Amino acid sequence: MCDFKQRDYACGHRRWLAFRHCAEYIRTRRRNCATNVLEFEERPNDICGECKSCQQLSRAPWMKSSFTSGLKLHH
Ligand SMILES: [Zn+2]
Ligand SMILES: [Zn+2]
Repeated sequence: MCDFKQRDYACGHRRWLAFRHCAEYIRTRRRNCATNVLEFEERPNDICGECKSCQQLSRAPWMKSSFTSGLKLHH
């Protein structure tokens, strides 16, 4: 099980930042285990990196698909 910090942004998105990955992940580089959230952080005055890049790239929408993250989770 990998340890994460959960961060809630003003835009309503939620991100998980890894503190520590378990041996299973380090060996396989795949997340098959449960997410163990150790810490919660609120960012009421901040939006997530994806929303920031959407704003910056609003004139170039075809570039959005190139932004991917292994830790991106939708709710
Ligand atoms: Zn793990
Ligand atoms: Zn966002």
